[in-house]
Amino acid sequence: MYRKNAWEKYDEKTEAKVMEFAEGYKAFLSYAKTERLAVKEAVRLLDSKGFKNVESVKSVKAGDKVYFINRKKNVCAFIVGKKPITDGIRILGAHIDSPRMDLKEHPLYERDEFVLADTHYYGGIKKYQWVTIPLALHGVVCKKDGSVIEVDIGENDNDPVVGISDLLIHLAADQLGKSAAKVIEGENLDVILGNKPLKGEEKKAVMANVLKILKDKYDFEEEDLVTAEIEVVPAGKARDYGLDRSMVAGYGHDDRCCAYTSLMALLDSKKLEYTGCCILVDKEEIGSVGATGAQSRFFENAIAKLLELAGEKEPLWKARLTMENSKMLSSDVSAGFDPLFPGVSDSKNAAYFAYGIVFNKYTGSRGKSGSNDANPEYYAWVRNVMDEAEVSWQNAELGKVDQGGGGTIAYILGNYNMNVIDAGIPVLNMHAPMEIVSKADLYEAYRGYVAFLNSK
Ligand code: MN
Ligand code: MN
Repeated sequence: MYRKNAWEKYDEKTEAKVMEFAEGYKAFLSYAKTERLAVKEAVRLLDSKGFKNVESVKSVKAGDKVYFINRKKNVCAFIVGKKPITDGIRILGAHIDSPRMDLKEHPLYERDEFVLADTHYYGGIKKYQWVTIPLALHGVVCKKDGSVIEVDIGENDNDPVVGISDLLIHLAADQLGKSAAKVIEGENLDVILGNKPLKGEEKKAVMANVLKILKDKYDFEEEDLVTAEIEVVPAGKARDYGLDRSMVAGYGHDDRCCAYTSLMALLDSKKLEYTGCCILVDKEEIGSVGATGAQSRFFENAIAKLLELAGEKEPLWKARLTMENSKMLSSDVSAGFDPLFPGVSDSKNAAYFAYGIVFNKYTGSRGKSGSNDANPEYYAWVRNVMDEAEVSWQNAELGKVDQGGGGTIAYILGNYNMNVIDAGIPVLNMHAPMEIVSKADLYEAYRGYVAFLNSK
């Protein structure tokens, strides 16, 4: 069903399913505030559906389910198909990192009897959106003795939250004259941690108190923060949005909404003709770089290992062949058409809420630069898969020509000479602390991913 509102086609029973599916997603989004937590939850779900960690697997055959974890931030799971793996894999790939602020290596300082933590933002953010909202701290502190302390502050109702201050309107005459890009400067995204002195301490007494809390409650010292990874993210749970409850508000829809729907599509598949895969990657928001990003050799190695476990004698070469024969949906979000800002989109090629899974033949900027630009032959094949399964789908570009742009992981897998197209969910307020998606689009994306995995 091309470019039609999906709510119109649902009967009462289906609508109940759509709402129920969103409940599962809301729980996932509320928990998976970081890539590490997303992997943790994905693994819990994989285990519950009978997938095995590859480390405990000696061989694989059709119907077997295995997963590979990469440094706790990147995971890929497979269901081995009836056909040889080298015939190609149906791959769903999404990213599980989201824009946020990271504590610097040496973050803490006391000024005017406040203790603050200095941050460096991660991914593209409009900085002014991140002040005066409740923030939570999530991450790990890695100590020299090899122990790892998990930090999780601000989600529980009894927890304190932290935050970044902004100037009161009464004194903002100078500030309001600045451009939106400069109203809040990156170096000023510093999080307030405390304001109470430790009794009897003469110098930096507030800092002494914060350090005491960190020591008493979490058992680490200031210096341990050098080898920590603490992410500052919006505190609180995902919620229903709109009086009709047709949408979900939450932090990190980009791209955990596609990660969840892709993962669920694999989890709910049983016997597959072609080997099915869901890969969840880190670091997309900063260029898909590094060991846990989409550009890592991890995925290629995982496929080689899978082939080896299936009895393949030349796993490395066959992994390349397998990738050439594979088909992929790069499951990433699209810019949802915003009624308050219609001017940035070409309305004929925009993604509308509730019109279903969105295909982006290309993304990129300034003349499609950096985009995958899928082959029309492959796009037509995908279209047919969607229509056969009666999935609601639409096409979109990321805004008007030369309005801006962006990228996904599609081109990276495309480099393996694989057929790839971007397919995801439209988002409003993308990269803001509170993003919005439609429950109908969540459900249609999930159905689209299921149809893709089961395609012949
Ligand atoms: Mn994305
Ligand atoms: Mn993004």
